[in-house]
Amino acid sequence: MADPPETTTGMAPGDEVPPGTPGSGEDVCPRCAGAGRLHDAPCPDCAGTGRVTRAIGGG
Ligand SMILES: [Zn+2]
Repeated sequence: MADPPETTTGMAPGDEVPPGTPGSGEDVCPRCAGAGRLHDAPCPDCAGTGRVTRAIGGG
């Protein structure tokens, strides 16, 4: 299992939908509050980006 968790879709574990999905948008990662790191390690939810893609819904 040497493959990284990230796939070619560019999704991080905390992403609710793939980037570019209609009706979605980037938001600050609630787990690390946008820092991208937790305790000197990359945040597992946003993969160290500090942002997650969330489904926002109809607008
Ligand atoms: Zn995070």
